[in-house]
Amino acid sequence: MGPLGHFSVALAAKPAAPKVPLGVLLLAAVILDVLAVAFGFAGIERAGSAGLPWSHGLFMSIIWSAVAALFLARIYRDYRAGVVVGLLVFSHWVLDFISHPIPFSSFSWRSWQWSYGHPLPSDLPLLFGDSPKVGLGLYNSISAMEATALEFGMFILGAAVYARYIFQKRKPGRPPSA
Ligand SMILES: [Zn+2]
Repeated sequence: MGPLGHFSVALAAKPAAPKVPLGVLLLAAVILDVLAVAFGFAGIERAGSAGLPWSHGLFMSIIWSAVAALFLARIYRDYRAGVVVGLLVFSHWVLDFISHPIPFSSFSWRSWQWSYGHPLPSDLPLLFGDSPKVGLGLYNSISAMEATALEFGMFILGAAVYARYIFQKRKPGRPPSA
C-alpha cells in the first residue's frame, strides 16, 4: 500500500495516543518502508524474488513492532503510547498483506497513467530467504486509479478522525476568552 493509506491509520490513531506527536505516528506507520529503503542502500535487502524479508517479512515486522513499542513506551513513560505505536508499525504489514503484490510501478504525469508490470506472485515473506510468501493481492485485482481512490478515501477518513479529535481538544466547554 502507498503512503497515503498508511498515513490514514496514523491519523486515526492519534486519539488513542495523545502524548505521541503526530509526526512520530506518521513515521511509525511507514517505518517498514523507511527500513526497506535503508536496507536497500546498505545492500542488505533488494526487491526481487526474495521479497523484502528484513523490512517486510512477517517475522521481522513483529520484531520491529515490538522494538518500537518498547522504545516509545520508555520515551513517553506511557505503556499505552508504546502499544499504540507498536500496533501502528504492525498495521503497515497488515495493509501491505491485503494490498500486495502491487503490479503498477510508476505514474506518468505526461500520459496520466500508471505503468503496469506483469501480474506478480505474492511477495511478503513470512520469515527469511526461501520461506513462503503471502499477500492477498488486492492491488493485483483492481486498477491503479481504484487503488489511488481507495487510499485517498482512507486518508480522508483518517484526517476526519484526527480533525474531530483536535476540535474536541480545543473545545474546553467554556466560551473562548476575548
Ligand atoms: Zn510497505
